[in-house]
Amino acid sequence: MEVIEHPVEKLRSALRSTRNDLIQSYGQYSREERRLLEEGLLPGSPLFSPITVHSDSDWIPSHPESPQDFQSFYSNPYRSTPNNGHKTIYIQTIGSFGDGAGISEQYVEWLRAYCQAFYYGLKVKLLPPVTVASTGCSFRVNNNTHNLQLHAGELLSFLKKKKPRDAFCIVGITMIDLYPKDSWNFVFGQASLTEGMGVFSFARYDDDFYKRSYAGRLKKAIKLKPGDYSVFQGYYTPPITSTLLFRSCKTLTHEIGHIFGVKHCLWLQCVMQGSNHLEESDRRPPDVCPICLRKLQSAIGFKIADRYKALLLWIEEAPSSSAQHLSKPTEAFQDFRHWLSKCRSILEDEIF
Ligand SMILES: [Zn+2]
Ligand SMILES: [Zn+2]
Repeated sequence: MEVIEHPVEKLRSALRSTRNDLIQSYGQYSREERRLLEEGLLPGSPLFSPITVHSDSDWIPSHPESPQDFQSFYSNPYRSTPNNGHKTIYIQTIGSFGDGAGISEQYVEWLRAYCQAFYYGLKVKLLPPVTVASTGCSFRVNNNTHNLQLHAGELLSFLKKKKPRDAFCIVGITMIDLYPKDSWNFVFGQASLTEGMGVFSFARYDDDFYKRSYAGRLKKAIKLKPGDYSVFQGYYTPPITSTLLFRSCKTLTHEIGHIFGVKHCLWLQCVMQGSNHLEESDRRPPDVCPICLRKLQSAIGFKIADRYKALLLWIEEAPSSSAQHLSKPTEAFQDFRHWLSKCRSILEDEIF
């Protein structure tokens, strides 16, 4: 295992930048906010840790990228920023989620509320769910894993037509696996950053996906007819577990981060780290490092403490007593809850 440790000075200048105006705007953070951001860069910080590379199949060895500091994020003329007319993130579900209508609605609502806390200050809205058939996209059976897959690029074309006028971005989510082109095995997601849209699948976040017994494997070879979507009726979708919810929240917020123009993080452990496989995605923390936090904060304008509070509230929200509502499975979020409380206690002085 390799630990990627950057000198503190390098991290500090990636956070503050070297441009005078940006150093000045950094100075507008409160003393407590700066303490949180800067102490996080120090070796041995209890809140943020250096990135570790566990094998050659991890993202960093297999996809060399140059790091993006705050300044290069801020000065990128092509990145999109929410503005008054465009400050809503829309989520479009495609195909079924969970094994019952109630579960499916509840799960997507949890995801929506999580994104709204994460991108604090923006509205996150759900568009009415659509079936696979109504997207008109191509599909196939994967030759290796024998599960159904949807054509990601064609789903993006569908989303482009659905994107509301006031959207900052539209993200499509599905429990069905995706492929970008015939020659590729699969893809977790695909996005068009200039168009402010993306489509992502949670199919491979099912613990059983890679098992022989995976229920999404089609038992016998079937001949698919283009345009005949009946094969999707009653097709397997993963059970909604706490782990699946945690993984989906992390993926969705990571992918929306890209739409803001945040590139893969090479600084510290961060939800914006690239990931090549499930084990690596699981290693990624659910929140951003101080450098990526400044990027989001400058794009949205939230108070850091308000955002942590909203995320904590999402985790701690009392389970509904109504029998129709399932209680949110937050077991997988408990470490995150402790972490958020620690961050809040650093910012405490300004909260009370
Ligand atoms: Zn990414
Ligand atoms: Zn980061």
